[in-house]
Amino acid sequence: MGEDHTKIAQWVEQFRPFAKEGNCASYIPALAQKNPNQLAIAIIGPDGSKMKAGDTTERFTLQSVSKIVTFILACMDKGLSYVLERVDVEPTGDTFNSIVRLESHQPGKPFNPMINAGAITVSSILSGDSPQEKIDNLLHFLENMLGKKVSVNEEVFQSEWQTANRNRALAYYLMASGYLDCPVEEALEVYLKQCAIEIDVSDLAMIGLVIANDGYHPILKTQLFPKQVAKLTKALMVTCGMYNASGKFAAFIGLPAKSGVSGAILAAVPGHASIQSPFPTGCGIGIYGPAIDTIGNSVAGVHLLKHIATEWNMNIF
Ligand code: GLN
Repeated sequence: MGEDHTKIAQWVEQFRPFAKEGNCASYIPALAQKNPNQLAIAIIGPDGSKMKAGDTTERFTLQSVSKIVTFILACMDKGLSYVLERVDVEPTGDTFNSIVRLESHQPGKPFNPMINAGAITVSSILSGDSPQEKIDNLLHFLENMLGKKVSVNEEVFQSEWQTANRNRALAYYLMASGYLDCPVEEALEVYLKQCAIEIDVSDLAMIGLVIANDGYHPILKTQLFPKQVAKLTKALMVTCGMYNASGKFAAFIGLPAKSGVSGAILAAVPGHASIQSPFPTGCGIGIYGPAIDTIGNSVAGVHLLKHIATEWNMNIF
């Protein structure tokens, strides 16, 4: 383990310079102020063993990684068929905040829960009579998984709330076509607050670990969500999790993963015999590198993940 730990630390430094090829998300003013050169990784195995390297104490917001958590929670709250009546599971090949296909599908029905339109619909479905109640339920679900308190970064939320014209446009269109379960501004508040939940790379890795284990928390030894929901979530991560780079990510890295414009990447690595890593029985990986490419994925983070997946043969295909 010690030798592998050293390797991970070396790889972080090897791929850190790739941050220069990207920029911090500028359309959310609070994210633009982040240090683009940061890079961190945490990997957690089913027995709780952990490796960390880089800027691991840095806290950041979930952004689009939250979409997998709310999808899982909505399926538990309302049942799979209720959710799938309101959001499809087809990749788009378009940018995450694209509006163009909303009218082309069954009018107004979002293509999948990983694009903003689908995620806003999912946020509106969550149980709770007010945005605060929905967010409290979500925080509670995350806290059970992480074994610690989590909260919304108000500054990031406010920063996005005030500039969310595009998400507002999506939400009003969804409302017009009957795909929201609560008023537009409430659905937006939930969506933007879930995006502003603050975590660190170890938290990301822990969520990835539970998804990799089909909803079973191997450290707490409890099933947190149904296996069927976990499998569907992994399929969505593979087909839509890295936005319109998901095809390339599946082809050349081959792991269920989800990214966010904060520079977060979460990967769920199921165990299999051919893995040549210190985590042959599966693991969760959390990465943070705030300089993102034009698609919205952490540049250094994707390079680092690709390298590790190749070195350790962590490819689900
Ligand atoms: N809060 C961001 C948005 O809605 C999340 C997008 C992302 O991480 N891709 O634009």
